[in-house]
Amino acid sequence: AKEAGRGTWRRFQMSMQTQAESRFALEGELRKALDNQQLSLYLQPKTNGDGVIYGAEVLVRWEHPEKGLIYPDFFIPLAEDTGLIIALGEWVLKETLLLMQDNPQLTFAVNISPREFRNTDFVNRLRRLLDETGADPKRLTLELTEGLLITDFTKSYKRMLNLQQLGISFSIDDFGTGYSSLSYLKRLPINELKIDRSFVKNLPQDSSDALLVETMMAVAKHLELLVVAEGVETKEQQEYLYSIGCTLHQGYYYGKPEPAKLLLARIKEQQAN
Ligand code: C2E
Ligand code: CA
Ligand code: CA
Ligand code: CA
Repeated sequence: AKEAGRGTWRRFQMSMQTQAESRFALEGELRKALDNQQLSLYLQPKTNGDGVIYGAEVLVRWEHPEKGLIYPDFFIPLAEDTGLIIALGEWVLKETLLLMQDNPQLTFAVNISPREFRNTDFVNRLRRLLDETGADPKRLTLELTEGLLITDFTKSYKRMLNLQQLGISFSIDDFGTGYSSLSYLKRLPINELKIDRSFVKNLPQDSSDALLVETMMAVAKHLELLVVAEGVETKEQQEYLYSIGCTLHQGYYYGKPEPAKLLLARIKEQQAN
């Protein structure tokens, strides 16, 4: 039994070492990916109550030459840990602003991770990118998470005011999954809540989720905020959400994230018809 125990420990040590090594290797690869145009923007449509696409959320992908498509849940945390998120986030913003210029009828939502938003230069860099590209800040929404806003309230508040003055809007991502202190909602310059898809998933059958979503709608109405439901996958979910006044939707029911050029071409075609 002792031998077996030692073997297990050794395998454990080795796997820790491989993990550290592969993490290190991956960090280098991600750095190169940024330089070598291996990252690409995907877009997922956001629709209004008429089912019309009014905007899109920008979702980054890593097109790895050997490993294939890598999803952000895997590399964004790595980018956050290593500080690469600053350069990565700036690349995402710049590419988005360029897309905005070619598609003046749509709004674009970009995810901003905590470390990126906390960077003291964030406001200046975004202002510079807006100047460089000439994109219209009124059609740009930044998606932030609740945790970031609560742990860093005063700094976030000032930063958001500066960006709001430029015309930029704010959305609270994954709403309901964080600390859910309602007082900060009232005090921060927020325009929109995005109901996390975990609350949408079991609608309309799950009555406690239904109650939660209806409560979020009441809060949003009181605070005069827009509400987007994430992860809408079925007609039943769509109809239920419409019935409680939630008309802005995003989810597989309307479209999965796809390469930016593909979605934008399809929207242009629809508008031409
Ligand atoms: P998120 O902001 O909550 O984005 C929504 C995620 O839900 C996306 O995953 C999207 O593909 C997925 N999704 C959308 N509709 C449905 C649906 O109907 N059903 C299901 N099951 N899933 C749906 P994705 O693209 O893998 O992104 C994961 C997360 O990575 C995002 O979560 C966001 O937090 C982060 N992320 C993505 N792009 C960026 C970026 O450019 N910068 C930063 N900082 N984070 C990003
Ligand atoms: Ca988001
Ligand atoms: Ca979300
Ligand atoms: Ca998320």
